Amino acid sequence: MSSIPTVEFAVIGGSGTLSSNFPLGAGDEDVEVLEDNLIFETPYGTSPAFRLFRVGDKKVLNCKMHGWRAEVSRADASRQVFWVFREAGVKRIISEGGVGSINPLLDPRDFVIPDDYLDMSERKGVGLEGKYLLIMRDALCHEMRKKLIEKTKEHFDGRVFTRGIYAVTEGRHFESPAEIAMLKGHADIVGQSICPEVYLAREIGACYAGLYFIVNYGEGLVKSWSHQELQDIFYDDAPMISRIILDTIRSLEPMGTCECKDLRKETLLKGIYNK
Ligand SMILES: [Zn+2]
Repeated sequence: MSSIPTVEFAVIGGSGTLSSNFPLGAGDEDVEVLEDNLIFETPYGTSPAFRLFRVGDKKVLNCKMHGWRAEVSRADASRQVFWVFREAGVKRIISEGGVGSINPLLDPRDFVIPDDYLDMSERKGVGLEGKYLLIMRDALCHEMRKKLIEKTKEHFDGRVFTRGIYAVTEGRHFESPAEIAMLKGHADIVGQSICPEVYLAREIGACYAGLYFIVNYGEGLVKSWSHQELQDIFYDDAPMISRIILDTIRSLEPMGTCECKDLRKETLLKGIYNK
């Protein structure tokens, strides 16, 4: 087992960076992998493998595909990842992933930097020790979103949506046409990974923001999507997504002037949530 390094930045990789050997796919000279395949023992089981890298003088911990593994529940995978982040001292977390559309104005390859979420998953109760009352106003950090938007526009000529609501479903399957119809008008994009991450980020006192790109139309919208197009987006756009994330980290200070860390308070329900 490895000992946990001190790190202020983290990237939770999703489908966008999976095929690019993140962060090396970007090919940037100030990026170097410091340690690989770091696995830690946590109170929630053995962690997924992390990569420790640097971009300039900033150290970053990275895990692949939200830490999900076939033999571990997604709830435990998320707890393991955020327990490690807290022990490492992580203050700013960037995530990314491919999502489906709900808003009929969206097309494949559009980028969305959401400003809110709607949790339809069964993982709402996932936390660490539950010592805090978590206020979910501005769950997605303003300051980090602003940088993500700026850097996405620098690297991408297509459409970048600067706000939107991410509906989280349980998975592992995609949604039915009736489920998409139900969500229409309530959310813009749909995926499986922004919750419970936003709760856990708040619990450890870290800022969280994500970069999402449309890989398919929601079922029953516009037209049936092709698996080939989804695969092409994952492979073609991965280096660009890596560059956006690395540039965002370069532009951020470890401690923001945002309100995020003040949106957790001591719980008034002591002794109830202690698992
Ligand atoms: Zn923040």
